[in-house]
Amino acid sequence: MAASSSRGTSSTRFLVFNAKTAELLSHHQVEINQSFPKEGWVEEDPKEILQSVYECMERTCEKLTQLNIDISNIKAIGVTNQRETTLVWDKETGEPLYNAIVWLDLRTQSTVERLINKTPGRNKNHLKHKTGLPISTYFSAVKLRWLMDNVDEVAEAVLTHRAMFGTVDSWLIWCLTGGKSGGVHCTDVTNASRTMLFNIHTLDWDPELCKYFDIPMEILPKVRSSSEIYGLMKSGSLSGIPISGCLGDQSAALVGQMCFQEGQAKNTYGTGCFLLRNTGAKPVMSDHGLLTTVAYKLGRDKPACYALEGSVAIAGAVVRWLKDNLGIIQTSTELEKLAASVGTSYGCYFVPAFSGLYAPYWEPSARGIICGLTQFTNKSHLAFAALEAVCFQTREILDAMNQDSGIPLTQLQVDGGMTSNRLLMQLQADILCIPVVKPSMPETTALGAAMAAGAAEGVSVWSLRPEDLSEVTSEKFEPQINPEESEFRYARWKKAVQRAMNWET
Ligand code: ADP
Repeated sequence: MAASSSRGTSSTRFLVFNAKTAELLSHHQVEINQSFPKEGWVEEDPKEILQSVYECMERTCEKLTQLNIDISNIKAIGVTNQRETTLVWDKETGEPLYNAIVWLDLRTQSTVERLINKTPGRNKNHLKHKTGLPISTYFSAVKLRWLMDNVDEVAEAVLTHRAMFGTVDSWLIWCLTGGKSGGVHCTDVTNASRTMLFNIHTLDWDPELCKYFDIPMEILPKVRSSSEIYGLMKSGSLSGIPISGCLGDQSAALVGQMCFQEGQAKNTYGTGCFLLRNTGAKPVMSDHGLLTTVAYKLGRDKPACYALEGSVAIAGAVVRWLKDNLGIIQTSTELEKLAASVGTSYGCYFVPAFSGLYAPYWEPSARGIICGLTQFTNKSHLAFAALEAVCFQTREILDAMNQDSGIPLTQLQVDGGMTSNRLLMQLQADILCIPVVKPSMPETTALGAAMAAGAAEGVSVWSLRPEDLSEVTSEKFEPQINPEESEFRYARWKKAVQRAMNWET
């Protein structure tokens, strides 16, 4: 058996899989609180994150015991996490020095503007040749810069050589392997490739990039492959088990969906929406607003594999907004019924640009907009428009990806929490005009991390040879509306996006 701890943006999970069949044996999930101390700020408590991981591990072990499954069969643990989210802690006390700044957070907008103004020709793609990324609030380096500039405890710890920086994977692995008593400070190539400090060609931290952001290299974790033994669990029921897989959530989903061939792609619908297409051994630079990222490196001596990525900031988060801010639904699952009750947005378009717009626009000053309202519009139409917004945003990314690669995708593999919404899946097939394929086991992110952990040298309970991989059963959603209707709605959406980008002018 191999297990993985999956730290999404909204919850923590621990899942145990059979390494021969990929069957999910047991799991536990805990919701995580997010705080919004100021407009545009999104934080999580690092200690709550860690506690939730321990809780999920212990509860899953109890459930396995109740099922008469011996927990000593767990041979390896993988970690997969929300990427870019930035933490700094004190290596001597083991204490976090500030909350985790979540990837969606917008507080660095003025830092980003200042950095872009410094570049020749005000070019947000100035660092793209090394990082594959535009300068944006999204990535860790600017968040880390903000912490160093604005939090005295962080600045002091950096000066006195006590600071450690990490994304959530690094924080968890360091704590789980012993923390201040000898914890391992590392990350993997996929998480590192989202920091803007990492050179995706040399696969290491880049001194020039660190100098650009004025970040001392000594606070960075060691970069390892996505599949190797990093260290052993130090406490709890799983003490002594190796932690041997580490992947950012979107890379883990690509592995879990078995997209190992160049050209294969998957889209994950969680808090945000992330479409990744495997481009094989070479990084492909996008001319259409996509990111170039490390997809995975499954072993110390294995080659890195790259992906083109389209990131949408707000997908499931719009559902949470309708629930928490407008109160028009009590639970996420109610949205489907509400939207299905009308089956149309009645000409209403909702661009949820709450955190600016990510791919393909990268426009931090864009803001959310709802247009096309009439006296007739009600909350059901708004619910439908919110679901359509997720689908239109995916269409924009798929179009960009098809243009960059020159080869149109013929079907889309999907996963993530929102894919339980069948109406959304059907709408997505209608708006893309290609089939949407959803695996019957939806936890592909966790599966990918467990596969990486189980396949690591020295563990080797999971084979990643294509002929040994178990067949994935899936459900297919075929397009049901005619392409003209789809194009008409998409053209309207594009107009709404222009309004969201220029709402102040
Ligand atoms: P993450 O990994 O980003 O935490 P998940 O993959 O767990 O996200 O998905 C959770 C998101 O999916 C939440 O934002 C939630 O609002 C949304 N969601 C879950 N179920 C549904 C549903 N049936 N319909 C629409 N949205 C849903």
